[in-house]
Amino acid sequence: MVNSVLFDLDGTLLDREASVEQFIAAQYDRLVAHLSHIRKTDYVSRFIELDCRGHVWKDKVYQTMVAELEIGGIGWQELLDDYETQFQFHCIPFDFLFDVLNILKQQGYLLGIITNGLGKFQTRSIEELKIKDYFDVILISEIEKVRKPQPEIFQRAIDRLGVSASNSVFIGDHPEADILGAKNVNMKTIWKRNPYWQQSEAADAVIDELNEIPLILEQFK
Ligand SMILES: [Mg+2]
Repeated sequence: MVNSVLFDLDGTLLDREASVEQFIAAQYDRLVAHLSHIRKTDYVSRFIELDCRGHVWKDKVYQTMVAELEIGGIGWQELLDDYETQFQFHCIPFDFLFDVLNILKQQGYLLGIITNGLGKFQTRSIEELKIKDYFDVILISEIEKVRKPQPEIFQRAIDRLGVSASNSVFIGDHPEADILGAKNVNMKTIWKRNPYWQQSEAADAVIDELNEIPLILEQFK
């Protein structure tokens, strides 16, 4: 019987695309004194492009932007510092996030997050989303020194919950890091469809919205 549900963060609980768009537009406004020679739309779109859905770390992104867009008077380190301290205030949850977490909690599921990323940064995002207290375990790759899709990070999460893999479900948007990774340790998997990635064939179920989760868990029983 399924007794625990674990989630990816970015693109699964956190609407990263919307959050990044809101953050980078606000960064332009905040630092416009140094950026006014660049059109805001160009600044925003170049950041989004270089970020590659979070797969390029922001020191590289800002180094490129400073050079390409001829930014002076402010260095890439200061832009990066602004990202690291301000992004948290632009964290936008996907629809139904709190409804679903409340339902799953009421139904007695143990809940967890496994996310690839920097410890402090991901912790701040989880705190600003106001979801930290729902989770029994939170594993962040930098702190754990192991990343998805490596099996160790999934195994460590279920060990900490004291449950077995076959009674656990992992929900994520990345076909490889999330779905194949969780499958390799024998967890059940739900792919949160993300048009950017190709269809995950391996997942046990596919959702578009978080509010589809409770019904699917019923079917796993
Ligand atoms: Mg993700």
